[in-house]
Amino acid sequence: MTGEYRVALLGNGIRASLSPALHMTEARHLGLGYEYRTVDLIDRPHVDLGAELRRLEDAGYAATNVTHPYKQAVLDHVTDLSPTVRHLGSANLVLFDDGRRTAHNTDRPGFRAALAGFLGDDGATGAVLQVGAGGAGLATVAALLDLGFDTVVVHDADPAAEATLLDRFSAGRPRLLPGDGGLDRWLPRVDGVVHATPVGMAEHPGVAFDVDRLAPSAWVAEVVYRPLETELLRRARARGLATLDGGGMAVGQAAESLRLITGLDPDTIRMHAHFHRL
Ligand code: NAD
Repeated sequence: MTGEYRVALLGNGIRASLSPALHMTEARHLGLGYEYRTVDLIDRPHVDLGAELRRLEDAGYAATNVTHPYKQAVLDHVTDLSPTVRHLGSANLVLFDDGRRTAHNTDRPGFRAALAGFLGDDGATGAVLQVGAGGAGLATVAALLDLGFDTVVVHDADPAAEATLLDRFSAGRPRLLPGDGGLDRWLPRVDGVVHATPVGMAEHPGVAFDVDRLAPSAWVAEVVYRPLETELLRRARARGLATLDGGGMAVGQAAESLRLITGLDPDTIRMHAHFHRL
């Protein structure tokens, strides 16, 4: 064992989270002593997030992941923001270091790495449609722009959510467009689609757009990972389209968190294989 790490996950309704197994198994492969536990705050609607962070620091935790609904609220309780957090206004990891609390966002590099691996060399070209402009969509659109696609079109059923996301990015970004004209206009024209709405989860069944309108060469990237096999992915595969499941982003953000916490490089292929067995 080359190090002892205690790491937490703060969020609501996270008792069945796959993060502990994902982090601890990979840390074991890396030869690390590593304990990862969930702190479910769902029964504590008036929780003092600052006090929770202090409790973890005092107990010797190295870091905590942060998930729904605290990704924005946690920013009021940290001392430092990474450049990505400053840009997106959202964090999913806080590193503790001698009284300093630094907020990071690993969803953006996690999705970027997963999509880059899926598309392969020179794959990030042409036009992409992103459906969904909420919390996950903030990180995925940033990753799409990082990867250098020629055009990124964002559509959300809620025009206010769409406008808010575009406002955050639009300065100097002529490649980023609103989904004016609706899905019917864009679906046949794009090289790929990123699906970033909750549609496809058990409580939101169905598909957010008509897969049959996509070109036969189009690819589909999903962010929903519960279930891993969504109706969208089933329909896309039935048409023979290339697909990336939501495990790509889930593993990518966990790997990037592990890297920031330990300074070691996790094996994302091994983590992905493990994720699919969970
Ligand atoms: P959110 O509520 O913040 O945002 C969802 C957005 O989708 C909203 O703006 C909403 O208006 C829009 N929307 C809903 N139905 C739509 C439809 N039919 N057409 C167009 N837009 C629609 O939710 P979120 O936090 O962004 O989460 C979305 C999904 O991403 C969830 O399933 C979540 O579990 C998943 N997620 C996955 C990862 C991962 O690592 N794979 C990370 C974060 C979130």
